[in-house]
Amino acid sequence: MSNLNKIWLSSPHMGGTEMNYVQEAYDTNWVAPLGPNVNGFEQDLQKYTGAEHASALSAGTAAIHLALILLGVEAGDEVIAQSFTFSATVNPITYLGAKPILVDSEKDTWNICPKALKQAIEDRIEQTGKKPKAILPVHLYGMPAKMKEINEIARFYDIPVVEDAAEALGSHLSGKKLGTWGDFGVLSFNGNKIITTSGGGALLSNDGELIEKSRFLATQARDVAPHYQHSHVGYNYRMSNIVAGIGRGQMEVLEDRVNRRREINAWYVDLLKDVPGITFQTEPNSNYYSNYWLTSVLVDPEQTGGITREDLRLALEKENIECRPLWKPMHMQPVFADCPFYSTGVSEKLFKQGLCLPSGSNMNQEDLDRIEKALKDILIKN
Ligand SMILES: *Cc1c(COP(=O)(O)O)cnc(C)c1O
Repeated sequence: MSNLNKIWLSSPHMGGTEMNYVQEAYDTNWVAPLGPNVNGFEQDLQKYTGAEHASALSAGTAAIHLALILLGVEAGDEVIAQSFTFSATVNPITYLGAKPILVDSEKDTWNICPKALKQAIEDRIEQTGKKPKAILPVHLYGMPAKMKEINEIARFYDIPVVEDAAEALGSHLSGKKLGTWGDFGVLSFNGNKIITTSGGGALLSNDGELIEKSRFLATQARDVAPHYQHSHVGYNYRMSNIVAGIGRGQMEVLEDRVNRRREINAWYVDLLKDVPGITFQTEPNSNYYSNYWLTSVLVDPEQTGGITREDLRLALEKENIECRPLWKPMHMQPVFADCPFYSTGVSEKLFKQGLCLPSGSNMNQEDLDRIEKALKDILIKN
């Protein structure tokens, strides 16, 4: 094992002004799940994404949970989700006693396949006599899903869309920011995302009443009364004013972070463009703009001379460089094995051959040199 510093897949990258906002919160004693930083961060998110309203929450997972509640998802309902994702997309469906209906990906963007989505909706209606209550597409690794096609289908069947943009802050499609295509958009500021508040999330929508309601539900659903009065079940999901201070500082450097991740992606593409059997997750055309949160490749051992994704991962691990297989699809997970699944065959292949490469915006030239050497040692020398 190398004794050089570990190169992480994606680690927090502070901009420098975060502590000013945190200090101000401390000095003014706004150490609470509300305050000027929470309001300021929400305004920053609205301004940046173009969403009319945003509520800052404790996690992206909480944002998905609240979106489903606000859409009236209840026990026994069905909700469609992209199978190829992190479990946090799908878990909130089960919190409500609803049933996840999993849909496979298409190969252009690696995200939910519109054709399979349409087939799934029609099949669910035929089998149960009821429409699914919501559709949850995901923009994996920052790559926009085919939102025009997805929204068209959603509108045809009149089913609301909750867009999981947890990995895609800063990405856009036809100039419109991700997180603003669905009825709701979900963002995450977990420690490994493109910007971070250590942990946190946000819910976006153009419906101000629903966003106000999300704030109400996220603060224990307290009715207006001098005593504690409740007519709804509530949650403790609001973002703290300290954490929101980090978020305000991070918003000042978000555009730099997106540019740097895209630069790293272009660097990898250039480095590996002539290596047979290595292909990238790539923007299908110029309407697509990915933040390239994580640069991801497929390794086809039939063309690499037998080198597999796992060979590559282990070779880099030996040099203290972190890589990860792509998300294991939800239909392959024991906990969701019983969920109906509409297959295209794409995500299983992606999982088998796919690898996320170190993509942190804080990597320096020395880090890139080490990665280059490790990749060349295994892919080119062999
Ligand atoms: C990170 C992530 C989430 C969850 O966000 P948290 O803030 O960690 O709760 C949801 N969906 C996807 C695709 C993610 O990558």
